[in-house]
Amino acid sequence: MRADHPETTKASSSTDGGPPPGDGDLPARGAVLREYGPAALEWAASYLERVSELPVLAPVAPGEIAAKLPAHPPEQPESFDAVLRDVDALLLPGTTHWQHPRNFAYFPSTSCEPAILAEMLAATLNSIPILWRTGPAATELEVVVLGWVAELLGLPAGWRGQIEDGASTSTLVALMAARHKTGRDVVVSSEQAHSSVDKAARMLGMTLRKVPTDSGFAMRPDRIGDLSDVAVVVATVGTTASTAVDPVAEIAPRCEADGTWLHVDAAYAGSAMVCPEFRWAFDGVQRADSVLVNAHKWMLTPVDCSMLWASRPEDLRAAFSLIPEYLRTPDHEDALSLSEYDPALGRRFRSLKLWATLRCVGRTGLQAYIRRCVRLAGEFERWVAEEPGWELCAPRHFALVCFRREGDDQLNRDLLQSVNASGEMFVSHAVLDGRYTLRLVVGSMYTTEADVRRAWELLRREAG
Ligand code: PLP
Repeated sequence: MRADHPETTKASSSTDGGPPPGDGDLPARGAVLREYGPAALEWAASYLERVSELPVLAPVAPGEIAAKLPAHPPEQPESFDAVLRDVDALLLPGTTHWQHPRNFAYFPSTSCEPAILAEMLAATLNSIPILWRTGPAATELEVVVLGWVAELLGLPAGWRGQIEDGASTSTLVALMAARHKTGRDVVVSSEQAHSSVDKAARMLGMTLRKVPTDSGFAMRPDRIGDLSDVAVVVATVGTTASTAVDPVAEIAPRCEADGTWLHVDAAYAGSAMVCPEFRWAFDGVQRADSVLVNAHKWMLTPVDCSMLWASRPEDLRAAFSLIPEYLRTPDHEDALSLSEYDPALGRRFRSLKLWATLRCVGRTGLQAYIRRCVRLAGEFERWVAEEPGWELCAPRHFALVCFRREGDDQLNRDLLQSVNASGEMFVSHAVLDGRYTLRLVVGSMYTTEADVRRAWELLRREAG
């Protein structure tokens, strides 16, 4: 049965738990923040403390959460207390926990505490840089912070970065700019590229050609074919299924020779370039036209934060700039407006959380986090390799291990199902070489060796 709004919650006043009355009908500024902010922060802090004890994968059936929510909007204002209570009572049971230390599925994402606070500040400022003057700080911080990250990852000085909601949008932007620049309609990627390339090509009415991969699941440059009619090659550094690294240094000269745009999707693995020992994977990326890295995958920044750099940002502007009369500001005609460089007009102040992450974690903190993830994945890989009856299914470059139980696909499907149903851990799968494969990625900043060991023990127990 659907819940009702609590009848006892009245139009609020400070004495019955709601915000105090303000000036006439206007709310008193800061009153709700002062009254409920501490409770909300306490909720967030205690959530992070207890998340390890919650079932990783939400143990609910489709529709179960919706059925518990009121069918109609509230007539009268409720207090924030009631919202906080219902987050616990109604929403938490339907939450799959991405902050959980044993969430090893897909590419896990953790948000660090400074970035959580910065999200609140961004919402407070509610800055909307539809053009420079409506958000000078938001516009300029985005560019400066992406310059910092470019330096951290070893990207060329002088590239300009901007933040999109996700890698799918970043790739859409790159493909659109490539088509506009080249006047061509063909996209080339490996057969292991993310489905966002297929989707962007479909949205733009472009034709996608897929290149076969080698035994390590990386694009085969000898099979790229003729690029003279190709608008853009999308190379992936860290594919979704296995984190394979396409040989960008070999692909780049082919693109240059044919005037083809080179876009690099490093959504996951790009963050690892903060550590010099992983820079081999960015060999040749300096010759690309555009590169994307998701800070919300492996840079401790909450979703959404996909960083997109272009070596010639004017090519993005040529594809996207469209300024209606009401947005013309003759006094700032030359000022940067990021809305001229992508599909969105308004944008969130996303750089604030990234700025907070970089300032409070620093290069050394990011390096330590990435290295810990990779070290723990290495441990897990060793246990699998040493255990009879198990096999590794792809080379491990970063913090993803692809593995399976020896036997048929159904055995592995059942294994995935049973470990995930335990609520103790969450792993996902891929199909590699036509075989069903389990994927375990260490990505949470809270994962310890004990968590990885517990996952391995559970896998062995369920497999037995
Ligand atoms: N590219 C790669 C390599 C990915 O692994 C993913 C998602 O995991 C994406 C793109 C799409 O990311 P988003 O959800 O940010 O659009």
